[in-house]
Amino acid sequence: MTVALITAGAVVLLVVAVWLLRRGGGRSTDSIRRDAPTIEVVPPQPTRLGTRLGGLFRRSIDTGFWVDLEDALVAADVGVATVTRVVARVRGLNPVSAEAARRALWSELVASFAETDRTIRTSGEPGIVVVVGVNGSGKTTTIAKYAKSLVDSGTPVLVAAADTFRAAAAEQIVAWGERIGFDVVRGQEGADPASVAFDALSAAQARGHGVLIVDTAGRLHSKQNLMDELGKVVRVLSREAGGVGEILLVLDGSTGQNGIAQARAFTEAVGVTGVAITKLDGTAKGGVAVAVERELGIPVKLIGLGEGEGDLLHFDPARFVDELLGDA
Ligand code: GDP
Repeated sequence: MTVALITAGAVVLLVVAVWLLRRGGGRSTDSIRRDAPTIEVVPPQPTRLGTRLGGLFRRSIDTGFWVDLEDALVAADVGVATVTRVVARVRGLNPVSAEAARRALWSELVASFAETDRTIRTSGEPGIVVVVGVNGSGKTTTIAKYAKSLVDSGTPVLVAAADTFRAAAAEQIVAWGERIGFDVVRGQEGADPASVAFDALSAAQARGHGVLIVDTAGRLHSKQNLMDELGKVVRVLSREAGGVGEILLVLDGSTGQNGIAQARAFTEAVGVTGVAITKLDGTAKGGVAVAVERELGIPVKLIGLGEGEGDLLHFDPARFVDELLGDA
């Protein structure tokens, strides 16, 4: 009897010990699974555009206020010339509180944007949108998101994969096309991009696509051959279709003032008509939108706020400045 009790007790202890061990082991595996992606995925400082500026407007206007405001706007990449101008104007109004300064600054920044048509110009049969920008800026993703908005509204879309240097770029477009429901024309690797654009235009005209979007190569802007090549794509399309509606430059919003230099190079080569600024979801530097418009006179038309197919917005200066200045 005693032996039986001891044996039963030992078995119970063993079961409990095994259960505890497994539970403990399971927990640590779970926590590794849960924590590891968090550490890998979340950037060091995931900042909302207005976090830093928003904090400023909760304090009083002391001697350091104006300098801090200028610093914060420059850090957000608004551009030194614009910052100096708008802060001087707001200061000249002698606002009685930081909140009053915020309101005046809001008006000044919104007024920095031109009153202009910010729609993507897609008139023509088909409407033609040529998309340019350096690799990694978000061209392909932006094309997919924009194509989705057209497809959703019932416009058949054809995308020309005219970046013939990177097979991966064409494959990426084809995959998006299958998911979203647009057609793709691609050329042989290394083919002349202008001939891919020409073939795509013929296909779009023959098959009745409402809009042709042309993805282009985006190696570094300093390469003269890239600019020559883009110029040729635009010339061929203009000649064959009687005009190109939109030449959209895609800029990575987190690269800040570099974006201005890029924009200038592309504008000189192909006459950019609109800008899409991407990755504004993960940066405090989106002020480059102000600088692009002020310094180059090109309207910002679209903004990218994530990697998903729905993460694209038409640019609205008032909403943008709301975000830039953060919560009051
Ligand atoms: P491309 O080389 O210019 O065609 O650039 P891709 O479209 O391939 O984009 C480069 C990377 O940026 C990819 O990982 C995209 O998912 C990412 N990306 C593009 N747009 C956005 C955006 O608005 N927000 C974020 N967070 N990532 C983006």
